[in-house]
Amino acid sequence: MKGNLLYEGKAKQVFEVEGNESLLVLSYKNDATAFNGQKKANFIGKGRYNNLISAKVFEYLRDKGIASHFEKSLSDTEQLVQRTTIIPIEVVVRNMAAGSITKRLGIKEKTVFNPPLVEFFYKKDELGDPIINDQHALILSDATVEELEEIKVTALKVNELLQEFFLGINLTLADFKLEFGRNIDGSIILSDEVSPDTCRLWDRDTGKKMDKDVFREDLGDLLQVYDNILQRLEAVK
Ligand code: UDP
Repeated sequence: MKGNLLYEGKAKQVFEVEGNESLLVLSYKNDATAFNGQKKANFIGKGRYNNLISAKVFEYLRDKGIASHFEKSLSDTEQLVQRTTIIPIEVVVRNMAAGSITKRLGIKEKTVFNPPLVEFFYKKDELGDPIINDQHALILSDATVEELEEIKVTALKVNELLQEFFLGINLTLADFKLEFGRNIDGSIILSDEVSPDTCRLWDRDTGKKMDKDVFREDLGDLLQVYDNILQRLEAVK
C-alpha cells in the first residue's frame, strides 16, 4: 500500500498511499537534529520511540475530542495519517520557561507562565524559524483570522489535555510545539508529531529533563530516556 516517497524531512519520511490520495504514511527516522540542523546524530531505535509515543498521544487526544491527522499505527516506525498541507507556523505553548525564550527575553528557566504562553514561529529553515506575531502569521499562511484564533484555542486545549496526560506518568510538560495542516476537505487539523522531540518533559520527582534537551545539552543517554517514557506510558491502564 505504501507508494512513492513524497518528502523527506529531518525526522520523518512521508510516503503516498497507493489508491488513496487523502492518506499518507509517515515513517519516523532515527536522526536527531538540534539548533536548526547544526547538531546532528543518529540513534538506532529513536524512530520507533517517537512513532509509538506520538501514536499514544494522538490516540489520547482523539479520545478527548481533538481532531488530528492520525489514523492508526502501521508498524514500530510507521503510522497512517490524513494528507494535509502543513500551515507553515510552529505553534509553541509554554507552561514554564525553557529553551529559546530564556535566551531571547532573559527569562529564567522554570519561570511559570500562568496563563500559558502561546508563541508562533515561521517554519522556514533558511531563516532559522523566526518568531512572528499574529499579523505575520496571517501574511505568511493561508489561515484566516478565525482559523488562527481556532488554532490558538486548540493549542491551549491540547495543553490542558497533555498536562494531564503527562502528569499521569509523573512528568511536567514545560512546553511543546504543534503543527497544524489543512486536509483534503479544507479543515485545519492537528498534524505532525507530539513526542519527546517536540515537548519539554521534566520528571516530577528528580526534575531531570526527559526529552530532546538530553541530546541538545549532552545530558545523557537519549534512547534510555525515550525508552523510559514509552515504558511509563505502556504501564498506564
Ligand atoms: N520545538 C520543536 N521544533 C522546533 C523548535 C522547537 O519541536 O523546530 C519544540 C521544542 O522541543 C520545545 C518547544 O518547541 O519543546 C519550544 O522550543 P524553543 O522555542 O524553546 O526552541 P529551542 O530552543 O528548543 O530550539
